[in-house]
Amino acid sequence: MGYNSPSMAKYDYPDSPLYRLRHSAAHLLAQAVLELYPNTKLGIGPPIENGFYYDFDFPEPIKEEDLARIEEKMREIAQRGLDIVRIETSRDEARQIIEQIGQVPYKLELLDAIPEGEPISFYKQGDFIDLCRGPHVENTRQIQHFKLLSLAGAYWRGDARNKMLTRIYGTAFFTQEELEEYLHRLEEARRRDHRKLGRELGLFFISPEVGSGLPMLLPKGATIRRVLEEFILQEELKAGYLHVRTPEIANLNLYRTSGHYPYYKDSMYPPMVFEDGEELILRPMNCPHHFLIYKSEPRSYRDLPLRIAELGTVYRYEKSGELSGLIRVRCFTINDAHVFLRPEQIKAEVQHNIELIQKVYKRLKLTDFWYRLSLRDPNNKEKYIDDDQMWQTAEAALREALDELKLDYVAVEGEAAFYGPKLDVEVRDCLGREWTISTVQLDFLMAHRFDLEYMGEDGKPHRPVIIHRAPIGSFERMMGFLIEHYAGAFPLWLAPLQVAVIPIADRHMDYAQQVSQQLSEAGFRVELDRRRETLGYKIRYHQTQKVPYMLIIGDKEQEGGLVAVRSRDSGDLGQMTLEAFIGRLNEEVAE
Ligand code: ZN
Repeated sequence: MGYNSPSMAKYDYPDSPLYRLRHSAAHLLAQAVLELYPNTKLGIGPPIENGFYYDFDFPEPIKEEDLARIEEKMREIAQRGLDIVRIETSRDEARQIIEQIGQVPYKLELLDAIPEGEPISFYKQGDFIDLCRGPHVENTRQIQHFKLLSLAGAYWRGDARNKMLTRIYGTAFFTQEELEEYLHRLEEARRRDHRKLGRELGLFFISPEVGSGLPMLLPKGATIRRVLEEFILQEELKAGYLHVRTPEIANLNLYRTSGHYPYYKDSMYPPMVFEDGEELILRPMNCPHHFLIYKSEPRSYRDLPLRIAELGTVYRYEKSGELSGLIRVRCFTINDAHVFLRPEQIKAEVQHNIELIQKVYKRLKLTDFWYRLSLRDPNNKEKYIDDDQMWQTAEAALREALDELKLDYVAVEGEAAFYGPKLDVEVRDCLGREWTISTVQLDFLMAHRFDLEYMGEDGKPHRPVIIHRAPIGSFERMMGFLIEHYAGAFPLWLAPLQVAVIPIADRHMDYAQQVSQQLSEAGFRVELDRRRETLGYKIRYHQTQKVPYMLIIGDKEQEGGLVAVRSRDSGDLGQMTLEAFIGRLNEEVAE
């Protein structure tokens, strides 16, 4: 790794061939910059996970457009075929070299940060020399397949009190194919960015006047949300969940009982304190409300498993730097439930949960996912809630549940929460990125904290086990995920607008109106496009809006009582009767 690093640990990276190549690409970048902008001062330039960067203090600010020129210079230097040579020096010699090449103050600071006794080295290629531990490739000609990507501001040593430097990001690979594949994925990720699509498709916006991290769903975004909610609600009612409604604020003492306050105070909003001393707080989770519902009447073993569910809105404070579109927000709604059960019911209930998750994923067309089981560290049992019998029962039940369903899973010891093991479902989106969407968390603690009981078969009171589970997770995050996964082209059942009806001329308006009306009565979300624009314009517009179906209405359709159908996914389907079209929609929705 480089001395290139203010804090050695922070910029530590593996010595792999790819990291060497990228580190050398960073040097090549620095050399090109110095040839083009001779008075530039160099900061640090490490390889990173997807490429490399270098921080510069330019005499004059540069622009995004200048990157092409710098990249061209890099290619020219690479072709010079310069050997990359390591030179070890004493600390005094190093200081002289740095002063001689005018790389003060940053490189001198980096030199001073090298601990006594460590070797000090430079890497030299042609006229370029840089304080660096290496390692590097042997010759600049080996750096062939690279690209400069973007510019950003970065404080020297990551400290806002220091000068803001200019960071140039790039990437490098061993082959042109790998480089192109990476650039393609980057482009796809940009194209699918849910914040960009959210604007373009009129789904949501975030306004500083309302507040950071507080998304506002527009009618189309709210439609997607409502359809998702209705879907999961129906599935859960069928699966025996009892849906409740509880307030989004609560007495602070509720979270003292649960133990979250003051320990999780940083992610909670400050309490509202009233004159009589009462303290209320926006809830950071739904669990305690549900525990009190459990407790609101005596429970017997015959009542279990008891499944209390809610589409519950919670409030968590996230730092503004961590907020991101719908993915990281300050207020969100969880498809939440708490299942109260007897220890011997764990296996069956976990399977019941997995089946619901599978149903949900099937409906959402998520096919690439795997299960991660987080277990106790067997060599460090004192870290966890002290109930050895319960841990053994629960962990065995979880494994059996997965084994019986013949599911592939990875069990990770030492990853469990201190109050119980859990099962996560990791979903890969179409770009291969992994998202933890659903969680099934066992809890041996809260029943004690809230003194929850059921009357056992033996006539004695027992503590129930609690499962916290959420197949959708947060609706906000799920929507962000789905927008990116589908690239805005929602499946028919979830599409905010399902059919756009487009009359060719004004004289077709009445018939188009009838068609819209009938589709609407058949339960579809339809819009009659009354705008005075050309047919071509309207078709292009609804294509960019990714509407699943367009019905074009002209003379022939009107006279024959037909509709001409254009499908987003399969193109022109020709004419058909409205009944046939509705039949097709119903089939597709039910699929
Ligand atoms: Zn919970």
